[in-house]
Amino acid sequence: MDEITYSSNEELHKQLDYIEKIKEVLAEKEKEAGRKLSASVITFGCQMNARDSEKLIGILHKAGFEIKDDDEQADFVLYNTCTVRDNANQKVYGRLGLLGSLKKKNPSKMIALCGCMTQEATVVDKLKESYRFINLIFGTHNIFKFPELVYLMLVNDDPKHMIIDVWKDTNLIVEDLPVDRKYSFKSGVNIMFGCNNFCSYCIVPYVRGRERSRKPEDIIAEIEKLVADGVVEVMLLGQNVNSYGKNLDEDITFAELLRRIEKIEGLKRIRFMTSHPKDLSDELIEVMKDSKKINPYMHLPVQSGSSRILKAMNRNYTRERYLEVVNKLKEAIPDITLTTDIIVGFPGETKEDAMETASLVKEVGYDNAFTFIYSKRTGTPAASMVQCDEKEVKENFNMILETVQETAKERIKRFEGRDMEVLVEDVNDHEEGFVTGRLANNLLVHFKGDASLIGTFCKVHLDQSKGFYLLGTRIDGN
Ligand code: SF4
Repeated sequence: MDEITYSSNEELHKQLDYIEKIKEVLAEKEKEAGRKLSASVITFGCQMNARDSEKLIGILHKAGFEIKDDDEQADFVLYNTCTVRDNANQKVYGRLGLLGSLKKKNPSKMIALCGCMTQEATVVDKLKESYRFINLIFGTHNIFKFPELVYLMLVNDDPKHMIIDVWKDTNLIVEDLPVDRKYSFKSGVNIMFGCNNFCSYCIVPYVRGRERSRKPEDIIAEIEKLVADGVVEVMLLGQNVNSYGKNLDEDITFAELLRRIEKIEGLKRIRFMTSHPKDLSDELIEVMKDSKKINPYMHLPVQSGSSRILKAMNRNYTRERYLEVVNKLKEAIPDITLTTDIIVGFPGETKEDAMETASLVKEVGYDNAFTFIYSKRTGTPAASMVQCDEKEVKENFNMILETVQETAKERIKRFEGRDMEVLVEDVNDHEEGFVTGRLANNLLVHFKGDASLIGTFCKVHLDQSKGFYLLGTRIDGN
């Protein structure tokens, strides 16, 4: 692809102007309706989508919409979709069916779709054919054009006209559009977009495009602003953070970016995801080891414990190489917590391959693993490979899941009896009078407390482990 263009202020100002134009149109529409108009953004999928949704909500809020969680009640509904697994697509079609019947009763309801799903041509064809009531469809590459597209949707008075603006790729990164953060004390920060890896099962490189890194100074400026606004923890986001910087003029690695972020005063915790095992450098391990702020936690997707299957997946590492990286991490940071992603039932996977995955789970000693059954994605090389027997896949899945649960249950016990710092995230939905927070190593802790603790650090004695989380007692207050 061509060099990355960091949009001049020109595109930013153009979109900010559109936000002002939306305000005017909205004011007229609200006068007619005799009430405020509301918008709801529903997110499907990963942390990248969650961060994109914060930007989309920020724009809608700034433009004057009242933000609601309820997509059935809202005047404007936007689904930010995911297409990594087929059942995510089916969920969206299901919700769209419901919105279609609501729109029959209320024709002024506006419906839009964006995200990875809309980058697939077959999906857009299906939407055009069977979901004609949708007002606006756009993709992942032109999300910065959202104000312009919303404006065009609002002034469009032909109910049959569906606005579709999906780009195949982009070399543009637009900085500084409004964002509404979900949490006041923590935030995701994109450091790069897209992926160059083409794992044979994955649709991401086709729907998110090639790797594009943001400039380090833009990332630092964003984090400094967040910290000034009360953020103490950032999660650096990218499909493969370990290859950060490859397309930039400046010679900079991910490890070096972390060194610079570490210097930001007031920032307390740094997380990142996702790390590709093939690109995890010794330099990064060194930086993590010496850091006071980078969390002793690594999400390192393995996908399979069989080198034969890893080759078919085009992962570019073997079981042995993966274990080598894990051992280096454990040696440098003995207390590190490790999580992973596992795919069960990749084409050609045998019982023996699945057993190898289970044995790797035990050997690494994961603190948690997200285990998925392989989902065939049209357009990827694995889709045309011979698929596995469903019954056998189910059995292997259960066997691996059981191994993950047993391993995690054992591993978490090492923290029992320790006094550790917890960043409180929320009140506990299941137990009244309790709050939930995270240790620096990402493990969840529940302890007695109330909403006033949200966003603060508490010293907690970890009394007891309960599978994937811990129960504790606060020891630095009431
Ligand atoms: S590294 Fe592989 S699995 Fe991850 S986004 Fe890129 S292609 Fe997909």
